[in-house]
Amino acid sequence: MVLVVTLLISPEVWASEDHYFLQHAFEAAAAEFDVPVQLLMAVSYAETRWNDHQGQPSHLNGYGMMHLVDNPNHHTLGQASRLLGESPERLKTEIPLNIRGGAAVLAWIAKKQNGGHLPEKLGQWYTVVAEYAGYQDEAVTRIYTDEVFQVIQSGAKRKVKGETLLLSPTKVKPYKGKYEKAKKPIGKKSTPDYPNARWIAAHSSNYTAANREGDGKRIQYVIIHTTQGSYAGSISWFQNPDSNVSAHYVIRSSDGEVTQMVQNKDIAWHAGNWDYNVHSIGIEHEGYVEQPGWYTDSLYRSSAALTRWLCDTYGIPRDRNHIIGHNQVPGATHTDPGPLWDWNWYMSLVNQ
Ligand SMILES: [Zn+2]
Repeated sequence: MVLVVTLLISPEVWASEDHYFLQHAFEAAAAEFDVPVQLLMAVSYAETRWNDHQGQPSHLNGYGMMHLVDNPNHHTLGQASRLLGESPERLKTEIPLNIRGGAAVLAWIAKKQNGGHLPEKLGQWYTVVAEYAGYQDEAVTRIYTDEVFQVIQSGAKRKVKGETLLLSPTKVKPYKGKYEKAKKPIGKKSTPDYPNARWIAAHSSNYTAANREGDGKRIQYVIIHTTQGSYAGSISWFQNPDSNVSAHYVIRSSDGEVTQMVQNKDIAWHAGNWDYNVHSIGIEHEGYVEQPGWYTDSLYRSSAALTRWLCDTYGIPRDRNHIIGHNQVPGATHTDPGPLWDWNWYMSLVNQ
């Protein structure tokens, strides 16, 4: 029997000093701040899939497994720093501290929203998570918060740093408050070009209005990107007038949902090269270049269907000279989509 038990446990788990180091970090932080552990783990999962990115920031300048943010619109890193009396630098890089920081901020928001008390029911944390995300648009906030509660409902399991982190499924009924009525965001155009996309407009100062179908600035390339942040976070970023970036499409990792944010005829700012911006469509894929697990089957299939439609619509050859990574753009400083992107499979799906 002993032999059987031994074989069931992976060598990586045996190798780490504390077999449940991360699980314990979440449980301890949840207990310390009276935040439901499912909620704490689900927020972290939705933001980073429980990856700390070794102190490297996301595109929203968020850090660590709890994605503590330090940007002009949102300051959860600073809040966590004040609440814990710890330096932002340590919060960025030390995993248990980062998780404690996230828990402290969630509890702080909860008390602020509930007259000094914590919510009694798990579902009442919905508006707390919504504020934690820090997005301006209520409909985009809802995309994110719904995902967090979906993770609580369905549970999650993932191997992180040699440890298998487990979030058991929990039945929950979210009380969405003002987000219940959050409507589809209003944009200049209410329908996307791509029939299978939802439409959420990027801020008008983040792209160049054009008439590429009529003025000879022919669309010749499809450029593949990685968001370096969450789906809803990227959508929110392109809505933000401070970002000065955009893409035509953003695709969600979990289910391949497509959001269009810039019309195909307009020039999105995504390639870091004006000539390529002028002649391309940019597609952002939810994930991180260096972290496995984001480029899911659903994401590949959904993206390939979109790219195939773009190629058919604009007469773009379905080959690697015209369907390129951001890293292939001349002068590119970005490495996305990186070595984890399976080009062979992607192109086979595009050409199906
Ligand atoms: Zn890119």
